[in-house]
Amino acid sequence: MLENMEELNHEDVIKEFDLLTKDAERVQAETLRRILEENGNTEYLNSFGLDGRTDPASFKACVPLSTHKDLEPYIQRIADGDASPVLTGNPITAISLSSGTTQGKPKFLPFNDELVKSTMQIFQTSYAFRNREFPLKNGKALQFIYGSKQFKTTGGLPASTATTNVYRSWQFKNTMRSMQSQCCSPDEVIFGPSFDQSLYCHLLCGVIYREEIQVVSSTFAHSIIHAFRTFEQIWEELCTDIEQGVLSSRVTSQSVRNAMSKILKPDPELADLIRKKCEGLNDWCGAIPVIFPNVKYVYGILTGSMEPYLKKLRHYAGTLPLVCADYGSSEGWIGANVNPKLPPESATFAVLPDIGYFEFIPLRENPEDQKPEKNAATLLYRELEPVGLTEVKVGEEYEIIVTSFAGLYRYRLGDVVKVMGFYNSTPELQFVCRRSLILTVNIDKNTEKDLQLSVEAASKLLVNENIEVVDFTSNVDVSSEPGHYVIFWELSGEAKEDVITECCNCLDRSFIDAGYVGSRKTNAIGALELRIVRKGTFQKILQHYLNHGAAFSQFKTPRFVGPSNGGVLNILTDNVVKSYFSTAFS
Ligand code: AMP
Repeated sequence: MLENMEELNHEDVIKEFDLLTKDAERVQAETLRRILEENGNTEYLNSFGLDGRTDPASFKACVPLSTHKDLEPYIQRIADGDASPVLTGNPITAISLSSGTTQGKPKFLPFNDELVKSTMQIFQTSYAFRNREFPLKNGKALQFIYGSKQFKTTGGLPASTATTNVYRSWQFKNTMRSMQSQCCSPDEVIFGPSFDQSLYCHLLCGVIYREEIQVVSSTFAHSIIHAFRTFEQIWEELCTDIEQGVLSSRVTSQSVRNAMSKILKPDPELADLIRKKCEGLNDWCGAIPVIFPNVKYVYGILTGSMEPYLKKLRHYAGTLPLVCADYGSSEGWIGANVNPKLPPESATFAVLPDIGYFEFIPLRENPEDQKPEKNAATLLYRELEPVGLTEVKVGEEYEIIVTSFAGLYRYRLGDVVKVMGFYNSTPELQFVCRRSLILTVNIDKNTEKDLQLSVEAASKLLVNENIEVVDFTSNVDVSSEPGHYVIFWELSGEAKEDVITECCNCLDRSFIDAGYVGSRKTNAIGALELRIVRKGTFQKILQHYLNHGAAFSQFKTPRFVGPSNGGVLNILTDNVVKSYFSTAFS
């Protein structure tokens, strides 16, 4: 679809999407048939006795739900060089590494051209809707994107993050050009060997092309914030480079220097203008439109675990619209943002019914019927039979099950979504959270979303102090009886003791799960502890992940640090400045 187009015709794309979603049930059945025709003879599917059947009922009856753990041995064999049809009929051409935020280490996932195709399809779909509301002219995008390192698996397959696999594809460049969203930085910067040097050059390119920049974006919101925090610190150096036309010695990579030398020319006038603009900013409020006057919107994944960064993003974006990017994962894409005017807090994603076969496990909070399992992934909900894409109900929450063109069959993605409505007959989903529980001591159950809400409530108490929570994470301390929740906060400044004490109490009170409140009242869970960490601690955590092979583009701060994540736990523990215990229940 539309791969070689020079300029995208939005109305055609929207028409195509309308057609696709009119009868999503039929499209789903066809998509499943195609997936099973292509892959029915694989070792994995053969073992379930489908015997050539490709209809949804047989598929659900024969093939069990799966998790990454079930598929791991198959994926490993592919990575080790087994070229037989293990999971897919056509060979797997590359391996993707997921961000590994949840597990603490990246997962291997199969990657093939089908994923590149669906990525382009979803990019073009949401762009078509976005462009109706916020039309772009011929211009460039300041994209804070970074290719991660690529390595070869034992079997010789290239392995990298899914985003890098996409950035490297020829289709990506064509699509971005057709969407007037070509990155203003050269490839050498995107794929440069050092993240810091690439960021420096992205900013420099952005300033040089400032008049042409129409969109400021990144995969996840936090990297835009990271970029502008860096901008605040280094703008004078950027101006010197522009004034003299000489790249700072901090950029040591020769390939990046060569590429930048073609762009960077002495321009004292521009340097002067940027100096004046930066000096004139008040606490860098509205910096994006001041420095990049023709930007139409700020774009990236702003939902889910990115929501805590919205306040800071709005600070930099001023009056510019924040537009949410689509919903997907290294495993594959799910939905496009076809309502770009919705604020991030209520953004939804319309499922594309032809990029995979989707099922949904209904989730109902059901305290009486909770299973008495007791580990980190303890189920929060009663498990019901999965339903099809068009059978979901508005207002209900579900866990998504994906069957893809890249070797995943009835695969539990681990995300919880809520159905907010329908676009024709395909559901519009809101991302709720990852399904796994993060905070639990005994009968209490709190998810990442609960933690986020609690932090949001408590951080409001810092507003008068003009202080922000830069980043946060959590942990459960069961080393002493009774166990208790520990929340780590990095703050942008020094708050008064009594204010932090109140924040700590507010955090404790804001976990409203009945199991937690009951246990706190009876002291079966101890007082919540708020540990304030030194400025820069979360920067060290990011660096730790990067040193261990994570990609900045896909990085998400882990909102829970378990005992298996010793490296990060040590960084946190080593940087605690002070801790506070809640008195909310005493
Ligand atoms: P990764 O495994 O690194 O590919 O990350 C994929 C995960 O990121 C998904 O399973 C979601 O939990 C999260 N994610 C991706 N897109 C969005 C989005 N638009 N909103 C919220 N969370 C998202």
